[in-house]
Amino acid sequence: MTFPPGSTIGIIGGGQLGRMMAMAAARLGYRCHIFDPHEAPCAAEVSALFTRAAFDEVEALRRFGEQCDVVTYEFENLPVEPLSVLGDKLRPGTRSLAVAQDRAEEKSFIESTGARVAPWRAVDSLDDVRQAVADLGVPLVLKTRRYGYDGKGQAWIRSPEDAESAWEDIGRQPAVAEAGMSFGAEFSVVLARSADGEARAFPLSRNEHEGGILRTSTVPAGPAINALAQGAVDAARAIADALGHIGVLTVEFFACADEAVVNEIAPRVHNSGHWTIEGARTSQFEQHLRAILGLPLGDPGLVPGGATMENLIGPDVERWLDIVCEPGAALHLYNKGDARPGRKMGHVTRLR
Ligand code: ADP
Ligand code: MG
Repeated sequence: MTFPPGSTIGIIGGGQLGRMMAMAAARLGYRCHIFDPHEAPCAAEVSALFTRAAFDEVEALRRFGEQCDVVTYEFENLPVEPLSVLGDKLRPGTRSLAVAQDRAEEKSFIESTGARVAPWRAVDSLDDVRQAVADLGVPLVLKTRRYGYDGKGQAWIRSPEDAESAWEDIGRQPAVAEAGMSFGAEFSVVLARSADGEARAFPLSRNEHEGGILRTSTVPAGPAINALAQGAVDAARAIADALGHIGVLTVEFFACADEAVVNEIAPRVHNSGHWTIEGARTSQFEQHLRAILGLPLGDPGLVPGGATMENLIGPDVERWLDIVCEPGAALHLYNKGDARPGRKMGHVTRLR
């Protein structure tokens, strides 16, 4: 099924990913309808329609679905059950969401596709945490099973005595305990998969994080990462196939000695793919739309040279005027208002 220009695309979640998706949709002649509980989400500002409702309001979701030709999401911490009223209009489907939003499900699932993850245990109590320390050693990181993002909901255990304070720090919630990996670099595979199973990956980006938040993404990723590219893209593709995923899927990796180890997946467009807006023949946002609309996938190739994307986090956004003055720098601001520390306010992409 192909949805022609003029169709309405529903986007659940109204953050910057939805905003950039809606801008890509407008360029292709589609209208977007944002569904989000906030008063003025930044994606609604650039979209034709906006429904303000909680993510679990089934009646509101049903009406929203009736007004859209196809529905997607830009945010994975959504209650899955209410989305069933959207039926098969929802792309990607609820399976991708359910797997990605629970770190224990996610890790078991990734292992079932044959890919490697860091050694891990599901933990539900302080005793479990102590057992994980005994089994896996330190350093170890606790991550809440649900609702973590940008390094939130995580606590490191660097010596066995930290077990109790780390368990307190994450709020004594069901979690995974994961071995701290020593890696040369981090990178991600952003790929799109269409309903008929065709998949295309963007060139890999090397990602630098600070305090659990993405700082920069650089493409080409460099020889050490490119040596792992084939295996990583194959692994990402196997994950997308096993999910029956339609749309963009992101797989984050640690580049360990001779092997790529999966960190986590996101069933959506991703911050580490923002460089594609200027740096690839087709942006990740357009590619996602092409996949969910039943259009042929675009060329994910890199423009000559390469690109670096830098996030503008919290007060970084005050540099906007300098960046606007910088020749060749592509500034993106999300108009999210308050520049709280740690909040993603915008990004800048520089081509080489
Ligand atoms: P989030 O959902 O917040 O992005 P991640 O699991 O990706 O959570 O963790 C954020 C960052 O923390 C990673 O990109 C990496 O830099 C660091 N990190 C997470 N898990 C590990 C680990 N097991 N070993 C080493 N570093 C890790
Ligand atoms: Mg991450």
